[in-house]
Amino acid sequence: MDVTSPHDSGHDSGHDSGHDSGHDSGHDSGHDSGRDDAGTLSVAEVRSRLAAEMPRLRADLEALVAIESVSADPARAGEVERSAEATAALLAAEGVRTEIVRAHEGAPPAVLGLKQGPVGAPTVLLYAHHDVQPENDHAEWDSPPYVATERGERLYGRGAADDKAGIIAHLAALRIWGDDLPVTVKFFIEGEEEVGSHTLPALLAAHQDRLAADVIVIADSANFDVGVPALTTSLRGMVRADVEVRTLTHAVHSGMWGGLVPDALMTLSRLIATLHDDAGNLAIAGLYAGPAADVDYPEARLRAESGAVEGLQLIGDGTAVERLWTRPALSITGLDAPQVEGASNTLVPAARARLSLRIAPGDTTDNAADALRRHVESHTPWGASVTFTLVDTGEATRIDAQGPAYDAARAAFTAAWDGTAPIDMGVGGSIPFIAEFLDAFPSAAVLVTGVEDPDTRAHGANEGLHLAEFERVCVAEALLLGNLAAE
Ligand SMILES: [Zn+2]
Repeated sequence: MDVTSPHDSGHDSGHDSGHDSGHDSGHDSGHDSGRDDAGTLSVAEVRSRLAAEMPRLRADLEALVAIESVSADPARAGEVERSAEATAALLAAEGVRTEIVRAHEGAPPAVLGLKQGPVGAPTVLLYAHHDVQPENDHAEWDSPPYVATERGERLYGRGAADDKAGIIAHLAALRIWGDDLPVTVKFFIEGEEEVGSHTLPALLAAHQDRLAADVIVIADSANFDVGVPALTTSLRGMVRADVEVRTLTHAVHSGMWGGLVPDALMTLSRLIATLHDDAGNLAIAGLYAGPAADVDYPEARLRAESGAVEGLQLIGDGTAVERLWTRPALSITGLDAPQVEGASNTLVPAARARLSLRIAPGDTTDNAADALRRHVESHTPWGASVTFTLVDTGEATRIDAQGPAYDAARAAFTAAWDGTAPIDMGVGGSIPFIAEFLDAFPSAAVLVTGVEDPDTRAHGANEGLHLAEFERVCVAEALLLGNLAAE
C-alpha cells in the first residue's frame, strides 16, 4: 500500500478555531532521545513516556467522565457541547488545530483536528466519540456514574471506557510523541455515536478533504479478553421487521369457535417456530453465512459472560465464534398480544412480533430482508393473513485486514501485549458507522481497535475501564504511529 496521502496537501488552510494553540508540527530533531531510528520509539521508551504521562491522562479522563454528555437526552445537550469543547481543548493543548463542527444548526458537535507530521509521512485519522449512553438507574451503580471511581483493577464511570478512554488513548499517543510525530494525525471525535450517528454521512461529505487519510483508527471496539488484544475485522449487520398475523376480523368467543378457527397467537407462534430448526440453527433460506477466524471461545466464559441460566443448551452448529460473529441470528425482541392478567375467553384476532435479524458479514440488508420476508410469507400457517413491515436496517462490515497498515498494527499490538498477537475478532453487534467510513474513504486502511474488554459493561451500570489493559492500548497506539511511518 502506498501510505503517502493522495488527498492531503499537508496545508490546512484556515480551518482553525479558537483552540489553535499556534504551535503545530515543528518536527525538529531537537529532543530525539529514545529514538532508535527515524520515526520510531523503542517499546521501552514508549512505556516510560506513558508512565510519566499517566497521572495527567488519568485526570483528563476523569474530567471528561464528569461531563454528562448523554446524546440521547435533550435536557443534557449543553453537556454534549461541553464535552466537545473539553475534547477540543485537550487536543489543542498538544498542538492540534481543532474546530468544532456540526452538520447543521442544532446538530451534535464533532471535533475535527489536525497535527502535521513530517512532509511525505502518512496521514492517520483517529476516531472516537465524546457522547455517552444514559446512565439509567443510579441505584444500580456502586459509585456515582459521573464520578470516576477506582475499585480493584478498574476505573468506573459512564464513558470511562466507551468512549472517553478512546479519546484519551489518542491523546496519550500524541503526548508520547510530542512534537516529533512520525505521521500526520487528524481527529474526528463525534458527539452522536450513541444515538445512531445520524449526521455522520453529512459530516464526512462536508469535510471529506480534511478527514481523508491513509489509515483510519476507529477506537470504539474491544479486545478479545484482558491480556488478549484484537483487531475487529467484522461486524454483523441488522434487519428488524415487524410481523403481524391476523386470523379473524374481530375477537370471538373461544368456547364457541375454538377447535375450528385458529387464534392469531397460536398461528404466530407456529410461524416463529419455523424460523429455527430443532437444534436452533436458522432455517431461513437465502441468508449468507461465512467462516470465522480459528478462535477458541471457551464455553465456561460464554456462559459466564452471557448470563445463561444453569443447564441451558447453547443453540446452533459450528464453532462458538462462527455462531456469534459470522452467521446470521434471529431473536424475537417484542410481542404484542393480550396480557395474561385479565385475559378473556376470546380468540385473539391479531398478534404481532418484532423479529431482530443479525446478518452475517458478506450479506446485505436488501438480500436478508427479502429472504426474511419470503420466509414469513411462505410459512404463515392455515391461510392466515400476514403483514411484514421493515423497521430498520444496518449493513454488516467485513474488513480485509491485509496489508502494511494491518501488519503495522499487529506488530504494535504484539509488542504492547508482551508477545501476545492480536486476534481477528468479529463483533456480533452492529456499528453501522464503520461502514460509513469504508464507503467515504474506500482507499484507506481501517483499523478498528478499542479499550473495552468482556467485562467493561459499556452501556450498562458499573461501566469500567481495565486500567492495566488501557495502558497497553495506549502503548500500542503510540507504537502503531511509529510503525506506520516506517512502512
Ligand atoms: Zn462507543
